[in-house]
Amino acid sequence: MPNCPECTAREKKKIQTKYEADTPEEERGRDDLYKLYDEIEIPMKMDPARKGNFICKRCGLYATREQVSDIRYKLNQKEKTREDKHDDYLEWWQKSKKEKQEN
Ligand SMILES: [Zn+2]
Repeated sequence: MPNCPECTAREKKKIQTKYEADTPEEERGRDDLYKLYDEIEIPMKMDPARKGNFICKRCGLYATREQVSDIRYKLNQKEKTREDKHDDYLEWWQKSKKEKQEN
């Protein structure tokens, strides 16, 4: 059964917040975080009345397998865009710090 994309995204955010609270910045690794993400299990249930449709008991999401992939893809894109922005910001910050040191 596919994991509920909405609940998984919410759970990821919770795990990330906890991870950042528990782990000092210099010990954090993206792989560690991804390992924690892999442990998320929020399987949807198949709708017995309409085969190929899945329902999430937690949030009530009702979708076909294709829609589930679609939602997951969109949520991942959103997450990526945010990370990219964050990286840009980091880059800018480090660059400006370097420039300050050089001057
Ligand atoms: Zn759900």
